[in-house]
Amino acid sequence: MYVVRVSKLADSIGVHRNTIRNWIKQGRLEAGPAPGKGLLLTKQELERICREYNLEPASLMDRPLPAEQAQAVLGAAVHMPIRHMGQRTERLRPDPQWADVCLTCGTCASTCPIAGVDGLDPRKAVRMVVLGLEQELINSQWPWKCTLCGKCEEACPMNVEIVAMLRRVRGLRPRQEVPGPMHKGVLMDLERGNNLGIPKEDFLFLLEDLGQELAEEGCPGFVAPVDKQGANLMITVNSKEPFAEPDDMKFWWRIFHAAGEDWTIPSDHWEGVNWALFTGDDESMKTLVGRLVDNMYRLDCKTLLLPE
Ligand code: SF4
Ligand code: SF4
Repeated sequence: MYVVRVSKLADSIGVHRNTIRNWIKQGRLEAGPAPGKGLLLTKQELERICREYNLEPASLMDRPLPAEQAQAVLGAAVHMPIRHMGQRTERLRPDPQWADVCLTCGTCASTCPIAGVDGLDPRKAVRMVVLGLEQELINSQWPWKCTLCGKCEEACPMNVEIVAMLRRVRGLRPRQEVPGPMHKGVLMDLERGNNLGIPKEDFLFLLEDLGQELAEEGCPGFVAPVDKQGANLMITVNSKEPFAEPDDMKFWWRIFHAAGEDWTIPSDHWEGVNWALFTGDDESMKTLVGRLVDNMYRLDCKTLLLPE
């Protein structure tokens, strides 16, 4: 058996660490947990993944683990008893084990850039879920103070999925109680195609107008390419730009023009900020992402750019 660091494996393959964790959940990679954010792989599995991604096994190996020690690590992780405390439910923990492995070490709190703001403490949030105080967490402002930056999860020695937990907590808040304008933005995007409800004709007029300005500002012949079939790049736009800072869009366009990029903006569903991600609203998020994907197929574009 060999111990491989999640981060080293992810970097070598060129994917995010969460992708590696998802592969394990999906059974695409057979690996068990090892101490210190490591993964325990058999020699055969290590060689298989290295063959698949053209890697040298030696470049990934942290250290070989003696058979008895490997067995002990695997046994401890697989057979770790779940301590039932309070009346917790499974709705915040898709994996019933994760919160039970929390050591209460506080590393998450020490790395959180906003720990202490309104009392936010990721360690306490995890404890609340473990102890069945999830309704209190759902009702609190903590999940909404969190920036979802992931530093806590990155630092956690036990790989507790703190960000997924906090996002799930957000999703359990009744929609009318979602703070700020985020949920209204989601509804507006679903109904009118962008977070601020900018009408299509206004958007197209603005693109034309800005294109003419750019043509006069050193990009002769420039025309904003709308709904161009077969373009290499399909770009999305943060609706706050056409709404409040339209000139910002020209910075991107100027670069594309200078680079000779083949690009386009869709005339519908061009919003590049999916607020459903932040409100924990998976269904709406799926719908909005699906519209971008539909645009990609409709316009036969190769690459999607989300400047946000
Ligand atoms: S860093 Fe991980 S193990 Fe430590 S308190 Fe936070 S969630 Fe628990
Ligand atoms: S994801 Fe949230 S709780 Fe974790 S470090 Fe970032 S702000 Fe703090």
